[in-house]
Amino acid sequence: MLNFVLFGPPGAGKGTQSQKLIDQYQLIHISTGDIFREHIKNQTPLGQQVSALIADGQLVPDQITIAMLEEEVDSNPNAKGFIFDGFPRTVPQAQALDEFLESKGTGLAGVIALDVDQEELTRRIAQRQKETGRVDDQADKLQKRIEEYFSKTVHVLPYYEAQQKLSKVNGIGNVDDIFAELRTVIDNY
Ligand code: ADP
Repeated sequence: MLNFVLFGPPGAGKGTQSQKLIDQYQLIHISTGDIFREHIKNQTPLGQQVSALIADGQLVPDQITIAMLEEEVDSNPNAKGFIFDGFPRTVPQAQALDEFLESKGTGLAGVIALDVDQEELTRRIAQRQKETGRVDDQADKLQKRIEEYFSKTVHVLPYYEAQQKLSKVNGIGNVDDIFAELRTVIDNY
């Protein structure tokens, strides 16, 4: 199996690049943000449980997120591999993912962090808010998400660095150039 994590702050371009990576590698793309939004739209019990947190820009508790992720992996038994997008966002999630994949006799090939500076992130998300109207892209909610990123999520990077699994790719510039850089990393796995 080929499993890897696409990592980066809100607005780094994970969704855009994931779309291209799915076409290139025929992997299953698991975006925890997309799955949560789908549950909220369909008003499932899980959706009702997490909608206020997400609208406010807070992280969903680990236990809920990890259970959802595992269920999603388990529902794709014939996958060639997975692109994890938006997960893990905390060190306990990273540990849970390692243990879960190991229990299936597989693991992560690597973690690719898309590097984008703060100014560009703010610009992109303001643009996305205009296009999609995502409530958590509004300025005050975005601030909360950025705080969550720098207080919790950023610690995932040293976790993978210690395992020598971390690669950084410049996330600013032409979408196709960034994609080419990602492919170089992935083709070396
Ligand atoms: P972004 O555009 O910031 O990458 P996502 O679409 O991945 O955001 O996620 C939107 C929201 O869903 C997050 O702000 C958070 O509330 C929730 N969420 C998504 N993934 C996770 C996770 N792994 N752990 C906790 N909460 C999550």
